[in-house]
Amino acid sequence: MKEIEEIKNSVRNRDVVCTKCGMTNEENIKRTKKRLHVHRIRPGSKYGLEECVTLCAYCHYEEHKVRVKVQDALSKILHVRLSASQFEEIERAATDRDEGMSEWVRNTLLYCAKEEAGLKTDDSSARGTG
Ligand SMILES: [Zn+2]
Ligand SMILES: [Zn+2]
Repeated sequence: MKEIEEIKNSVRNRDVVCTKCGMTNEENIKRTKKRLHVHRIRPGSKYGLEECVTLCAYCHYEEHKVRVKVQDALSKILHVRLSASQFEEIERAATDRDEGMSEWVRNTLLYCAKEEAGLKTDDSSARGTG
């Protein structure tokens, strides 16, 4: 879709470098033969200047790797194999405060994310090992 490419280019022009590590477009091309990537902050959202950030290939990979980890963790906790689109749905709701997502799911997501990031959670009370 032509329009999406135009938005992506506008995002690249605005950010100039990777918004996480500062890698330049030149460096990204040198290493991966591709321009800096445009990543949607909220998965599955539309492409727009507000919704997107510029990332280098490495930071973009990390960003999605973390999400897959959280998806796996959440699947385990819920005892349901979440599909990518189901997870996106949850993630989207969790990042959109206006949609009034249930506190429980938001906390669960947060808990998973912290666990996967190797962070100690404050909640030290007995939690079922499920
Ligand atoms: Zn980067
Ligand atoms: Zn992305």
